[in-house]
Amino acid sequence: MSELQPVSTTAAGPAGGEEKIPPSATGGMTQATMVKKTAPKTDYKPADVSPQRRVQRRYSVRLWSIRHSRLLEWFYARFADIFLLLHPLWKGIGYGRVETPVKFVEKHVKGLMFDCRMCGQCVLSSTGMSCPMNCPKQLRNGPCGGVRANGNCEVEPDMPCVWVKAWEGSRNMVQGDAILNVQKPVDQSLRETSAWLRVTAQAAAAREAAKKEAA
Ligand code: SF4
Repeated sequence: MSELQPVSTTAAGPAGGEEKIPPSATGGMTQATMVKKTAPKTDYKPADVSPQRRVQRRYSVRLWSIRHSRLLEWFYARFADIFLLLHPLWKGIGYGRVETPVKFVEKHVKGLMFDCRMCGQCVLSSTGMSCPMNCPKQLRNGPCGGVRANGNCEVEPDMPCVWVKAWEGSRNMVQGDAILNVQKPVDQSLRETSAWLRVTAQAAAAREAAKKEAA
């Protein structure tokens, strides 16, 4: 009968193996320096900003919108009124028919300004103009417990936490306390639909119901 051989379970691996020194530790040269030195030389030199700064620039328009949340709140109220005024037109043409062009405009305008993900249930006016769908965990009712000390996201360390920004944006707004309202879970069946048209149709229905009640 053969005997079972003991197997090494130490970090050094099987007995007799030599510990290898990582190349980054050679000659005091860091891995980043080695990569830089071996990179092919060309005429193109990236603008003088760090890779981290380049990543952060992705959020600059989004952050502008949050800083100007009060102006956008005012603008959206006027815009929603105009959309509601046009309800007879939307109804005449058919909400289903106007959805494609309206959605196209909504997607691009809100995509540029808020990095909108077209969830179809917009809550920007309750979240300081900071889109909660940009949270990697897609939390709709406040931040998780992982916000970093600098106010950035725990999942995307270069991105400011959307809920920290939401709170800042809400403090500038007239209706900013709407951030305290509890939001429903996202209805995934409404993705890629127009929140503008939905809100308009709902407001029109509420207005007609109020008229009937008063009559
Ligand atoms: S809450 Fe939804 S509709 Fe509003 S900006 Fe964010 S993804 Fe777009």
